[in-house]
Amino acid sequence: MTREFSAGGVVVRQMRGRWWLTAIEPAGRSPSGKKTIWALPKGLVDEGERPEQTALREVREETGVEATLVGKLGDIKYVYTRSWAGGERVFKVVSFYLLRYVSGKLGEIAPEMRIEVGRVEWIPLEDAPRQLAYKGEREMAAKALEYVTRNPELKSLEN
Ligand code: ATP
Repeated sequence: MTREFSAGGVVVRQMRGRWWLTAIEPAGRSPSGKKTIWALPKGLVDEGERPEQTALREVREETGVEATLVGKLGDIKYVYTRSWAGGERVFKVVSFYLLRYVSGKLGEIAPEMRIEVGRVEWIPLEDAPRQLAYKGEREMAAKALEYVTRNPELKSLEN
């Protein structure tokens, strides 16, 4: 089976007394009239790139914000069938990192990224385990929530 390795981020930020994370709506994936599919920013690990660098790069490209690494949250695994390349099955591993927001405005992304990304929003971290579309990503958000709750000093570092 073909394999793919991606990396992504749970970008957290404290605003108005709450923790938020950046979620994206992958373009063309939410059926019209149905509930928005919210997902975490991520992308394929380039050759010679460390997965944590990929996570920071993909966050910058897909959401427009600069973030900094806090730590690794975990790996998620799934199998999907390509709608192209003869319907090939792909085994995919995605490493997720907890990232802290540093600067930048959400949604200020290059026009060519609009092919991949629909909407970009801050969603309350507490709601993310419910709002994200994929189980593995919901688990990553739950871990991030646990981390920020246990490490309140992260708050004072906020921009
Ligand atoms: P990348 O963002 O890594 O470049 P991509 O956008 O090409 O990847 P995926 O996001 O992996 O591809 O999506 C490929 C298929 O897998 C889609 O049908 C999508 O709905 C599904 N998928 C995406 N994330 C998950 C997940 N966490 N669990 C299960 N299925 C998923």
